[in-house]
Amino acid sequence: MEYIFHCEVKEKALANIAIIGAGVIGVSCAAFLQRDGHNVTIYDPLPPGEGCSFGNAGSIGPGSVVPLSTPGIVRQAASWITDPDSPLWIDWRYLPRAVPWLARFITAGASPRINGIAKALRLLHADSFENYRTLLGVDAKSLLHISGQLYLYESDAAFTKDALGRELREALGIRSEILSADEVRQLEPSLGPRFAKAMYLPDSGHCSNPHRLVTTIAEDITRNGGRFVRASVKDFELEAGQVRAVVTDAGSMPCDTVVIAAGAWSHRLAGRLGLKIPLESLRGYHVMLPMPEKAPKRPLYPLAAKIMMTPMEHGLRIAGTAEIAGLDAPMNERRAAALGKIAKRYFPGMTGEPISVWMGHRPATPDSLPVIGASPRHKNVMLAFGHGQTGLIGGSTTGLLVSDLVAGRKPTIDPHPYRANRF
Ligand SMILES: Cc1cc2nc3c(=O)[nH]c(=O)nc-3n(C[C@H](O)[C@H](O)[C@H](O)COP(=O)(O)OP(=O)(O)OC[C@H]3O[C@@H](n4cnc5c(N)ncnc54)[C@H](O)[C@@H]3O)c2cc1C
Repeated sequence: MEYIFHCEVKEKALANIAIIGAGVIGVSCAAFLQRDGHNVTIYDPLPPGEGCSFGNAGSIGPGSVVPLSTPGIVRQAASWITDPDSPLWIDWRYLPRAVPWLARFITAGASPRINGIAKALRLLHADSFENYRTLLGVDAKSLLHISGQLYLYESDAAFTKDALGRELREALGIRSEILSADEVRQLEPSLGPRFAKAMYLPDSGHCSNPHRLVTTIAEDITRNGGRFVRASVKDFELEAGQVRAVVTDAGSMPCDTVVIAAGAWSHRLAGRLGLKIPLESLRGYHVMLPMPEKAPKRPLYPLAAKIMMTPMEHGLRIAGTAEIAGLDAPMNERRAAALGKIAKRYFPGMTGEPISVWMGHRPATPDSLPVIGASPRHKNVMLAFGHGQTGLIGGSTTGLLVSDLVAGRKPTIDPHPYRANRF
């Protein structure tokens, strides 16, 4: 059987592959491609892991299968939109540019495709830990933790409202347990008494330093002869319908194959190759707080606030919120500060001021699925971006899938749901 998504590489082994973007997706692709014998060069104006991959919530949930847009999203968004501290905020000056993406986003939530989307997320997430272990070697032990995750509900009504998520998980065989308020307190004694119920996902967990995860993989790539070039890719040189060089701000660099893994900036590069892919930045924030006296053992997700509270190497990370304001608007300090205030409601004993705040650009497609596979226009261009709110979870398997497709071998997972021409 031939896999139509495979990328044409000039020579099967020892191709010169240019990877654009040194985030978790770019380094995962580079590391698996290098294992196949290719020469990899990664282009990024920033050091590895300093884009969105720097500050995510660290959640690794093989059971994270619920897309962002679900039926009822419009009603829910309308209730948030007037509150500047709510989980979603739209900069009205940017709205006209976001309208086409928002329209597709709303349609995706209402579509009967939702089960298919959940299944495709499950495929991409199921072996996340295992594939990271391949990339991280001995460092996996200190970075990856199958600690379980707790989804927290403040009332029975809130629990009932989340029925769709539970149905999607159940249909895909994801293990979970429902806990009472007392059981929640026993599992996480530092939490206050706000929660009526929780769902415990025992096979999920976290990475305690997502930046170190990327730099560890990057160091391994360098040790094995891969190169990181601090340059921004501006364009491509084409010959006979194939990309022959990436044009950077440091000059033209020849290559046999290109992987576009530039996170929320990827659509600009794909656009240079004639592809129109709806990608929006869903800006998110984190605040690092001093660890409470009794440190939480696992990521905690109070659904009402839509924030993840994760124990990290350097404190407790409170991460979340979605903001639509484009790639260029400055960080909104108020929204970052709001995260810290919300967290203090949940941890009554918590004192201390934020250690740091951060903002990053989630690369979001309207249907919550990334774009992975060969470009429909140039067969030596591979696309690997658009992982939205689950790029850490999906990173390792994306790297493996890209290497399968470049090699033309039977892919580890069915690549069809992630094809670029679905839009
Ligand atoms: C608040 C928050 C919480 C999150 N929590 C989680 C979570 O718990 N679990 C999870 O799985 N995901 C989470 N995510 C999402 C996750 O962080 C992203 O999906 C992931 O980091 C995307 O990785 P990436 O490599 O595609 O992008 P990035 O990490 O942004 O990397 C892209 C790189 O491309 C570079 N680049 C851009 N343009 C060019 C160019 N022209 N030339 C060269 N280089 C270029 C950029 O400089 C950047 O370094 C969260 C995100 C946010 C914001």
